[in-house]
Amino acid sequence: MKSKERAVRDEIVASCRRMNELRINQGTSGNVSARWKDGLLISPSGLPYDEMSPDDIVFLRMDGTYDGEIRPSSEWRFHRDIMRSRPEVNAVVHAHPTYCTVLAIRGMEIPALHYMIAVAGGPNVRCAPYATYGTEELSRNALQALEGRSCCLLANHGMIATGDSLKKAMWLAVELETLARQYVLSLMIGGPNLLTDEEIGNVIERFKDYGPRAKADAA
Ligand code: 13P
Ligand code: ZN
Repeated sequence: MKSKERAVRDEIVASCRRMNELRINQGTSGNVSARWKDGLLISPSGLPYDEMSPDDIVFLRMDGTYDGEIRPSSEWRFHRDIMRSRPEVNAVVHAHPTYCTVLAIRGMEIPALHYMIAVAGGPNVRCAPYATYGTEELSRNALQALEGRSCCLLANHGMIATGDSLKKAMWLAVELETLARQYVLSLMIGGPNLLTDEEIGNVIERFKDYGPRAKADAA
């Protein structure tokens, strides 16, 4: 039977490939991690996804050390720092989707143009100020932009989506790119009519009981 660790490694490889199939990323850009034991499993740096095997996924300790010769993603710092400071997060997806990146190139945040912005955990998706990829500064900026949010944009770079599972983080990455696309397109026809913070609060409450089955603890 497949070990649990092997299943997580497989899921990371599949998610990396899926990012490109979904066209929310391309080439060797982007990276994916999942919390594992007292550290995280993370995609390797600069390895084409179609050549990636589960053995190439790196186990990174919370102090940033790892064994073996394969280097973890150059963005291991923000993956590690997010996992360290956000106990509810079990997976992080970073990608360079076109519409998120177009907004991030202009340093723009995504406002409450659609009720689905609530998936971000609040009425906007912030854009973290630019810092060189792979740096502590980028990690600090990302962590700040993620305060009270599940995702953010990275100026002149891309986006980060988090989740309590890898499936959720991947889902959020697609939702975020959809919002970014809607925003860019709405700007071309005069700009969006924005929803109020109060309305987004209502939607966040509603989302607690959204889905095919009633939740036992829902009001
Ligand atoms: P890695 O290949 O090192 O994961 O880097 C890709 C990337 O998106 C850097 O921001
Ligand atoms: Zn990147």
